[in-house]
Amino acid sequence: MLYFRKAIYRPVADAALLLATIGVVTIGSSTQSDKSEPAFAADPQIAAALQQISAQRIQANIEKLVSFGTRSTISPQDPASIAAGRGIGAAREWIKSEFERYSKDCGGCMEVNTDAFTQEPAERIPKATEITNVYAVMKGTDAANAKRIVLVTGHYDSRNSDTFNVSDDAPGANDDGSGTAVSLECARVLSKMKFPATIIFLTVAGEEQGLNGSHHFAKMAKDAGWDLEAVLNNDIVGGDKSAEQDHSVVRVFSEGVPTAATEQDLRRIRGLGGESDSGSRELARYIADVGRAYEVGVKPMLVFRLDRFLRGGDHYSFNQQGFTAVRFTEYREDFHHQHQNVRTENGIEYGDLPKFVDYDYVARVARLNAATLASLASAPAPPANVRILTKNLENDTTLTWEASPRGLVAEYEVVWRATTSPQWEHAQSVGNATTATMKLSKDNVIFAVRAVGRAVHRSLPVVPVPER
Ligand SMILES: [Zn+2]
Repeated sequence: MLYFRKAIYRPVADAALLLATIGVVTIGSSTQSDKSEPAFAADPQIAAALQQISAQRIQANIEKLVSFGTRSTISPQDPASIAAGRGIGAAREWIKSEFERYSKDCGGCMEVNTDAFTQEPAERIPKATEITNVYAVMKGTDAANAKRIVLVTGHYDSRNSDTFNVSDDAPGANDDGSGTAVSLECARVLSKMKFPATIIFLTVAGEEQGLNGSHHFAKMAKDAGWDLEAVLNNDIVGGDKSAEQDHSVVRVFSEGVPTAATEQDLRRIRGLGGESDSGSRELARYIADVGRAYEVGVKPMLVFRLDRFLRGGDHYSFNQQGFTAVRFTEYREDFHHQHQNVRTENGIEYGDLPKFVDYDYVARVARLNAATLASLASAPAPPANVRILTKNLENDTTLTWEASPRGLVAEYEVVWRATTSPQWEHAQSVGNATTATMKLSKDNVIFAVRAVGRAVHRSLPVVPVPER
């Protein structure tokens, strides 16, 4: 279990790093001492917005989703079923109307879209089925940065004991009414603010049938060349009220070696120890920083693997297309309450019912998501083409990068950690430069560079690629 309670950037008892804390960093012609600053400060406006996230609203939304009986992707979606309020079609129409209502409340600040396609028969799709993802786009207010996108998602489809059963109830309160409610509540609250970059609030279908909805959406984003910087997938964040539940933490799963790595990437990763520096892993670390900066009431517990044993999720669809994506899931799942027909057997209650969901917990997870989305959408783009110069054998380390595209930058920071450390341990401001020489050997630590905005916001850090 990887769970870090200690404050970040504590000096560690490592000779090389100790040297760094007393050493001098050369930045062009000027020098400054290492401050080893704490990671993030909270933005008061974001902190205030987080207070608007409501457990009551989340409860109402989850109960509404459950009221559709089943949200199986292969359940009815004809007009009569929609009118009767049963099946995935009715759920889809309701989600769409919720997003539209939030958009109306912010003067049309969001565009509500659907991504609908016909899924041909597959292992868990008996006949050609229309699958519809529903999403709201809150366009960034800065013309140059509006192309950058951060995204939150949950799956609104559900299932019971049998993937093909569309007649019995499949309440899906936790899996994944909770994640759907996180997307909705983030949309409602963040739509009252303005951000330079774009935020997309997504809900997908087809997850339980084989990640079909997210696969289609991620491929669409890839084919269209979207500048999608980060994806937060919330799946089973209901904080099931079982005895051994830990309501103070939420797991954040992230891939290590990228699913989409090329052979060349893999050679570099093997050679230089890059197994724990995928974009998704950096996003997980960023979420840990956000969790320390804002009082959200739940601690991200980073799990350094793609997902749980035997399980998958929609973040993987994005990873497959080369996007940075992580998964949030409650600390301990109760498997009696997932993928089960609602029933009682030998005194055990089965089924994914609202009464097992801790709505305050979902609200805390939603706050962590909203703080992450707001931070990334306020921050400058990460620096481009970050390089570590390896022309000569030397004990200093020179890093170069191209200015963070599209403005918003005040300065850059070099961060680093011991190769054995899970999280960034040191941060050094290097001013508004595009090169920095660190009095620290690249052989001993892992470096990255991030952009810092005019306020407190940091971009995701970028690990350099060697350049001879
Ligand atoms: Zn799920």
